[in-house]
Formats: sequence, C-alpha cells, structure tokens
Amino acid sequence: MNLKSISSLASTNCVRRMHELSIVASLFEILEEKAKEKKAKKITSVKLKVGALSGVVPEFLETAFNIYKEDTIAAESKLEIEEVPLKVRCQQCGTEIVKDDFVFICAKCDSRELKTLAGTELLLEKIEVEI
Ligand SMILES: [Zn+2]
Repeated sequence: MNLKSISSLASTNCVRRMHELSIVASLFEILEEKAKEKKAKKITSVKLKVGALSGVVPEFLETAFNIYKEDTIAAESKLEIEEVPLKVRCQQCGTEIVKDDFVFICAKCDSRELKTLAGTELLLEKIEVEI
C-alpha cells in the first residue's frame, strides 16, 4: 500500500471521498484473507456490484482501488464494477420500475408506497486468483 498517494488522493478529492477509501481498505482486508484461504499467489480480478443508492461513486472507488492495490497481492488485478440501477416495486399496483431519478412515486398509480428491490447493494461479487 502506498500511504503517500492515498493521502494526496484524499486531500485533492475532498473529505467526503474518504468514504470510498475506507471501503477499499476493508475490501483489501477481505481480499487478502480470501487469497490466503485459497493459497493464491495473486489476485487477478475483482468484481464488485455497486448499487445506485449505495452511496458509493464507482469512479472514485476505482481510483482508490488502483492506488491501494500497489504492493499488495492484488497489484496486477483488474477491477470490474457492475453498476446496479435502483429498482422498486409499487406496493399498491405491483408495478416494477427501474428508476433513473430518486423520485419515489409510482409512475402508474402515483402511490408513494414503493419497496426497494435493488440498488442499495455494495457487494464483492467475484474474485479470480492465480495459485
Ligand atoms: Zn403503483
């Protein structure tokens, strides 16, 4: 890990972006654990699922990942991010809607009783390793 570049990243991208850095830090704890479990020599790819409402900006997550991975077991790995759109179901009429805005009103019946089905997740989907 390169502490110097991480702190300069944090200061140039405002304090809020510490969020992605702390996520990446805990992600790497999991990655190193998994790699040890599998007796892997290195991690070659990492796939994450990032929901539209997860509070994470994929672009910042990727930047943080690429800086953090230096000198780790995942130094040569590729990060793949699958963005999951916000999907809701109307509790009144049952309509399922993929929303690109965050207006929580059913387009069909104007109900505000919407249940979130997807879009809040932040998941480590897949790791590929070389043993
Ligand atoms: Zn409805």
